[in-house]
Amino acid sequence: MPRNGEINNSFGVYKNLCCGTEIIIPAGVIFPDCATHIHLITEWKNIHSSRIPHVSELAEGKKTEPAA
Ligand SMILES: [Zn+2]
Repeated sequence: MPRNGEINNSFGVYKNLCCGTEIIIPAGVIFPDCATHIHLITEWKNIHSSRIPHVSELAEGKKTEPAA
């Protein structure tokens, strides 16, 4: 499992093991430190690797329905 500081080689949604933070990391980007545990080692697990969420899904899971 990749750790922070390693270069990501496959686009995907990654979840860190210490805090469960989910972020999208494109290929070629270095896995970041955990926002809560800066400078500590954390591992990033690839989740939803086969599906790219739409940007509208990233806003706290809220879905804005059109006002009919
Ligand atoms: Zn953390």
